[in-house]
Amino acid sequence: MRIELEKLEGGRGDFAHVYQPETIGPVDEHITLTEPAQVKATVKRAGNDVFVDGHVETRVRVECDRCLKPVELPVTADFALEYIPGAEYESSSVAALSEEEMAVSVFDGESIDVEEIVKEQVLLAVPARTLCREDCKGICPECGIDLNTGRCNCESQDVDPRWAALKALKNTDS
Ligand SMILES: [Zn+2]
Ligand SMILES: [Zn+2]
Repeated sequence: MRIELEKLEGGRGDFAHVYQPETIGPVDEHITLTEPAQVKATVKRAGNDVFVDGHVETRVRVECDRCLKPVELPVTADFALEYIPGAEYESSSVAALSEEEMAVSVFDGESIDVEEIVKEQVLLAVPARTLCREDCKGICPECGIDLNTGRCNCESQDVDPRWAALKALKNTDS
């Protein structure tokens, strides 16, 4: 869905939309929606600039950072975005500043892609690291066994300090 600025009456409008996960597709290679994304926003036009304030909520599936098991998370995000037309951006003195520094996005001057907003906001709202549970033991880097459900006899990099101390004792004995 795109917001066509020409169709905004009096330069502003409210919109609400529900995106099915398959419409949005994967947000990135690690994040997929498991429930429809609901987005509500107000669009305001000020001269050539456009302000979009709103809220998005959905649920996503990501991978546990340690064991790679799928983890589901609720995602909610409030956003306040500013768009300036590409032509204006290039010709103005602000062009010296990067898009990021200004916290604005450049658009074609005619319409704004709501799907893009949803993807971007979900991406920003998902924490960089997610664990399936606080004390997830992860997978053994040697044999790949899930250490939450089984054990292996591989030498682990991070040996329990108590065992390390015992080992050291043994070595000095012999
Ligand atoms: Zn895990
Ligand atoms: Zn192992």
